Amino acid sequence: MSAESQLRADIVEVGRRMYAREYTASNDGNISVRLGSDRLLMTPKSVCKGFMTPDMMCITDLDGRKLQGDRDPSSEMLMHLEVYRQRPDVQAVVHAHPPIATGFAVAGIPLDRAVLAEVLTTLGSIPIAAYATPSTRELPEAVGKYIKAHDGMLLANHGALTVGGDLFGAYYKMETIEHFAKISLVARLLGRENLLSREEVLRLQDLRGTYGITAPAPICPPEVVAADATGSGDAECQVVQAPSGGGSSFARSRASGCAARCWTPASGWSPCRPRPRPWRCRTARSSAAT
Ligand SMILES: [Zn+2]
Repeated sequence: MSAESQLRADIVEVGRRMYAREYTASNDGNISVRLGSDRLLMTPKSVCKGFMTPDMMCITDLDGRKLQGDRDPSSEMLMHLEVYRQRPDVQAVVHAHPPIATGFAVAGIPLDRAVLAEVLTTLGSIPIAAYATPSTRELPEAVGKYIKAHDGMLLANHGALTVGGDLFGAYYKMETIEHFAKISLVARLLGRENLLSREEVLRLQDLRGTYGITAPAPICPPEVVAADATGSGDAECQVVQAPSGGGSSFARSRASGCAARCWTPASGWSPCRPRPRPWRCRTARSSAAT
């Protein structure tokens, strides 16, 4: 089987898995992979990802001009092109609407808390790209803000995007985001999330090379986090909610209307972060603050 034939078959398989896992419904989602140095192999628009065949795929150049295929390329092609333009290391892009991760995207809650070692090692923090009308040039602009320093992100009121060094690598990151969202939802329903320390986050970063992960995922220093690194311009590093000098935990307060505050050894009780939380919360090291 030629390399192109294998990639066509791999896109079919990734689409089948996305649909089977209900990451997409109907004709949602799109998948692309580099074909050599100057072409892309991409899913066509208006097909269900669960029932594709290898001959359906489109070949485009890196400016989005269709070179081959009976169908038109994905309506989200501009978003894919922006990723490939900014990230020469990326070989594949996957976009889907996994329901729990998309729920976080709809609620405006980034998956940026340091709670799972595997997520921190493979993806780091998962921000939310600002809402943009699908299929417009606004969407690549929103994605472009984060793509330099992130391999996965939520798309506000839309879905999620992942990239990787190969097709299945990009797809597995989509699985990781949805799995992480599911665990985060359960932890928040239970009322507590114990955070890993910033020191542990940096230790996990150092392990990325051990696992052969080369994609950039720099962690913002604490002072940048405090100033909200994603406030303007492109995000050059990842904002991770991880306290210095020991763990802490987010816990929902019993009292309604309390201020959103976090406890850390360095600063004691202080506002959790610049961005407002969907519910008012506070954190504490002891169970007394639940
Ligand atoms: Zn979409």
